[in-house]
Amino acid sequence: MKKIPFGKPAIVGPELEYIAQAVASGSIAGDGVFTRKSHALLQSLLGCKSALLTHSGTAALEMAAILCDIQPGDEVIMPSFTFVTTANAVVLRGGVPVFVDIREDTLNLDERLIEAAITPRTKAITVVHYAGRACDMDSVMAIADRHGLRVVEDAAHALLSRYRGRSLGAIGHLGCVSFHETKNVISGEGGALLINDPELIERAEIIREKGTNRSRFFRGQVDKYTWVDIGSSYLPSELVSAFLYAQLERVEEINEKRRQICRLYHAGLQDLSASGRIHIREALEGEDFNGHIFYLITKDLEERTALIRHLGDRGIAAVFHYVPLHSSPAGMQHGRPHGRLPVTDRIGERLLRLPLFLELTAADIERVCDEIHRFYRSR
Ligand SMILES: *Cc1c(COP(=O)(O)O)cnc(C)c1O
Repeated sequence: MKKIPFGKPAIVGPELEYIAQAVASGSIAGDGVFTRKSHALLQSLLGCKSALLTHSGTAALEMAAILCDIQPGDEVIMPSFTFVTTANAVVLRGGVPVFVDIREDTLNLDERLIEAAITPRTKAITVVHYAGRACDMDSVMAIADRHGLRVVEDAAHALLSRYRGRSLGAIGHLGCVSFHETKNVISGEGGALLINDPELIERAEIIREKGTNRSRFFRGQVDKYTWVDIGSSYLPSELVSAFLYAQLERVEEINEKRRQICRLYHAGLQDLSASGRIHIREALEGEDFNGHIFYLITKDLEERTALIRHLGDRGIAAVFHYVPLHSSPAGMQHGRPHGRLPVTDRIGERLLRLPLFLELTAADIERVCDEIHRFYRSR
């Protein structure tokens, strides 16, 4: 029986050739040719004012927290149904994540609950575009405007998904993307900070270069460089950027292939959804989705555990996702929930992600769907 893993990183073009070119160029530290090409390509693909590669999506979130000037005791509103670094970036600055519930239909921060969670200490809102599907950014930006808050988009899932024609990550003041090997476009570990507020660009360059004005020095804008602010080493090596650039050149093909897989799953499971056995996400009008995750929602935790087991016994790796942060040990210590989070609690126990990677074949997808049908026939 052929095993179907949950994910599988793939080479899509001249990644190895570009790495060889970077080595031959004589320097493999950061901000070389492939890093600069990646910045330019991201800026033109996404329409952000500036894109800076980082060594991870986590690093981009940490830079965003510094740029939002999060001070001890400052609060940042965010979903609890997210990866730990969305919150950790704030906690590392002494800030307090305030967890707000998500919407049942999008699994994204419920914009109707944001305003009630704002206090005099609130500094920013971090939204997460779960699975690569957009938050209601018009509402979020309007709330942030009214209250003078910064908006950070955690667009780790969402490279080249769009909301009303605009790329996710390029709408809030700052956007963070990840190129971890589990994402659509990969470089092993990797990420980028997207800066949409032009006033933050120069400070972002300084923070990324250990708190020095080295970037201005290399552009000839100052005659020596020195320590001017807090910062760290957030930039990737050219070896990583070379790999990444080959992937970025093919992002449209990668996303289209993943969307195609999602369409096949959707068609294959439509009947189970129609009969109410499972819930799958319907495409929303005008949605522009990058195919990052295909998930289904089961009736309860027991059913999900049994389904994971049923598929696992037949060589198919399906996996759940986030353990909600508000009920995790560090989340309880460093953050606080805003009221109860019933949707987050429910989804955390019922969501199941199906295998999704470039080499997945139509026959594989059919096998996964057949096994899910077999499981529900037996219940
Ligand atoms: C992957 C991910 C990150 C972190 O990215 P890394 O590149 O692994 O550091 C942050 N937020 C979300 C929602 C993610 O899925």
